[in-house]
Amino acid sequence: MIRMPLWWRKLTAAILPARRLVVVAGDTLPDALPARDLVLARDDDDDWSVGMRCPCGCGQRLELMLLKEVKPRWDLTADRHGAPTLSPSVWLRQGCRSHFWLRGGKVIWCD
Ligand SMILES: [Zn+2]
Repeated sequence: MIRMPLWWRKLTAAILPARRLVVVAGDTLPDALPARDLVLARDDDDDWSVGMRCPCGCGQRLELMLLKEVKPRWDLTADRHGAPTLSPSVWLRQGCRSHFWLRGGKVIWCD
């Protein structure tokens, strides 16, 4: 898949429903990630990492660590509808170099 232009990414983010959070048991993410939703690897009470496909359309697999002890790491929260928010933003250093925030299940693109 190719990287979609910014106007298209902003349009689809506005129109499509919020991304949801799927929780899997264990400390690793599944090999296959859903097209849009995020997957959280939770082992007992420990949240290990969250995975998603790059929302630019390139399909790159993103794995963001949530453990307190690692760097870099992200904070993940979900609202009562299960819509996830990530902090800080995600900025890919390789490939498509996408930079975005995820808030309330919506991707907010940085220009
Ligand atoms: Zn991408």
